[in-house]
Amino acid sequence: MDLKTDQEIEAEKRILPFLTKRQESILVKSGIDSSIKLFNYFPSRYENRGEIKRICDLKEGEFTSVIGEIIGKKGRKAFKNNIAIVEVLITDGSGNLHIIWFNQPWVEKQIEPKKKYYFFGRIALFQTKRGARLQLENPDFEEFLEEEVLKIVPVYKKISIFGTKSIRDFIKRGLESVQIEEFLPKTLIEKEGFFPQRESYYKIHFPENEEELQRIKDRSSVSVKRFVFEELFGFQLLLISEMKKRKTESAKPIKKDPKIGEILRKIVPFELTKAQKRVFKEVVEDCSSGLPMYRLLQGDVGSGKSIIAFLSMVWSALDGYQSAYMTPTETLAVQVYQRLGEIASKCGLETKLLISSTKSAEKKEVLKKLKSGEVKLIVGTHSLFQEKVDYTNLNFVVIDEQHRFGVLQRDALFKKGENPHLLLMSATPIPRSLALTVFGDLDISVLDEMPPNRAKVVTAIRGENSRRKVESFLKNQMDLKKQILYVFPQIEENDAIEAEAAVTSFEKFRKGVFKDYPIGLIHGRMSSKEKDEIMDKMRRGEILLLVATTVIEVGIDLPQATVIVIENAERFGLSQLHQLRGRVGRGGEKGYCILMVGKETSKNAENRLRVLTETDDGFKVAEEDLKLRGAGEVFGTKQWGESGFFFANPLRDLRMLETARSWAQKIVEKEVQLEEYEKERLRKWLKDYYQKSYTFLRGG
Ligand code: ADP
Ligand code: MG
Repeated sequence: MDLKTDQEIEAEKRILPFLTKRQESILVKSGIDSSIKLFNYFPSRYENRGEIKRICDLKEGEFTSVIGEIIGKKGRKAFKNNIAIVEVLITDGSGNLHIIWFNQPWVEKQIEPKKKYYFFGRIALFQTKRGARLQLENPDFEEFLEEEVLKIVPVYKKISIFGTKSIRDFIKRGLESVQIEEFLPKTLIEKEGFFPQRESYYKIHFPENEEELQRIKDRSSVSVKRFVFEELFGFQLLLISEMKKRKTESAKPIKKDPKIGEILRKIVPFELTKAQKRVFKEVVEDCSSGLPMYRLLQGDVGSGKSIIAFLSMVWSALDGYQSAYMTPTETLAVQVYQRLGEIASKCGLETKLLISSTKSAEKKEVLKKLKSGEVKLIVGTHSLFQEKVDYTNLNFVVIDEQHRFGVLQRDALFKKGENPHLLLMSATPIPRSLALTVFGDLDISVLDEMPPNRAKVVTAIRGENSRRKVESFLKNQMDLKKQILYVFPQIEENDAIEAEAAVTSFEKFRKGVFKDYPIGLIHGRMSSKEKDEIMDKMRRGEILLLVATTVIEVGIDLPQATVIVIENAERFGLSQLHQLRGRVGRGGEKGYCILMVGKETSKNAENRLRVLTETDDGFKVAEEDLKLRGAGEVFGTKQWGESGFFFANPLRDLRMLETARSWAQKIVEKEVQLEEYEKERLRKWLKDYYQKSYTFLRGG
């Protein structure tokens, strides 16, 4: 019989049995609510403490490790600012050393006389009345047990009040005492040659020597591979089962009606390119088939993807269905709303906008009309699939610049309709094999032809010493009533700082070089209303030079702008720069893209940019990006971060992704037979750990 005492049950509920309730609740509040999540809290870096120095050999200023026995200790409050000071004296036989901690009163209790400790920290010179002496300040420390010397020490980012030492301690004791249930099926582990979890965790948290550390860093370590695999495998399991479900469900066909074809032809403001016609036909075939469409539309910046979406939406609306167009940013949503609205109104259809800054009265109205089915066309950001939004007969969904959205966000949107047709659009070329693994089993259309009267954009790289020349060129252009976009890079992952660079420069421009010209400013910290006003002014030609942060990066269409200047271009990825320059020269007039590079830019970085002066083919640029920057950064790591991977990077870990996919497929298709308990464990893992810890599964 398996009867447990209350205490045992209580202990099992705990993350780690040895934690106090208080420690535990702090961890839980920080999102670490299971031992596995704690073990998954991998070091942010490692310190190689190397050789232990003798006290008599210490030098001022060095970071070093010493081992010594405590021979004296005192704690006191410093008079000046009431700071707690703990001071100990240690010896290692070669000499004595003072160690001092400021503002860490708890150290006093943790250190016991006569015991030996291992210290790591910086040696400082300290002036006393009797002269200068060396002392060790605020070191990391732990009890020294003769049999084990940690040479390579994991360093963790703080979790709330817990510093690296506590975290290391929790993890170490946890790994030594907690039962870890293996959830990967036995055959899989054997075939892939993975280590069991405990061993894998141990090897990553506490690498034994420099060689092992190196293998962790270059990701050739079997232990690292296991975790990369886990992450991708879980993702694939979810994706494949979702796909399977979706494929077997039928979808409402949108009728192919020649009359509607006629109407659509009339509302297009230009002649469609051959490629556009072909792709629209593909979409029509898919959506009228009775099976759900799941299609990725790839096309370089400016290739005219939106019109495909617009036509499909209007078609769907004329057949009585609702359709939604989701964009990654509000500015883009507003623009799409305007463009779609114009086209749709020609057939008497109303278009609505739903973004977080939509006024609440207006929002209410929109929600009501969506629910009643009165409004058929809606454009918005992720607001579109929040819980309170109800649709009637939603049957067509467009997701623009899709690589910015996580799987589950898409999933949330699916669920709003009864299996709606889905069109993903992206300007970032992704190899087919990768698209498959990241988006699941989808069809791909490519717009491989640019609309006519698209003039070439001349791209040039300019350094600091050409700044005056560039400025007078810009003035010339403005004298000719040409419009200019002036872009500043995102320096940190922080909108405020990004905005600051743009704001400061804007002020300088306004009072200085461009004081006689109408210039404007747009950045991510402005309200949507402010942004709209600026964009409108730009459209009406009331602004000739627009200082911007990368808010304009995605999809914004300003047909009249002919010049784009990008400051600190070396900080951007090639694909990103390509996207940016795609913003200009759409009106048929020759465009200019000036890449300003900073003073300290290396020759290497400049060479990297050279590709852009040589080709205007987005696919070539992306390829080059892959080669030069290492696969990880094609989309910018930040975006992958947003899509929720911690360990893995689908581009860099493409082979592992394929392995994970193939296992997931075999398991979902039951080609690999699992024991009942193995299935149960996998399910539990996916549910407990994977869903909770991955943002893209939370849909947030
Ligand atoms: P992207 O593929 O980058 O999303 P858009 O759909 O925004 O490109 O189209 C870019 C610009 O090209 C828009 O101003 C659009 O009106 C215009 N455009 C699209 N297709 C054509 C076409 N066949 N002929 C002329 N202009 C077009
Ligand atoms: Mg677009």
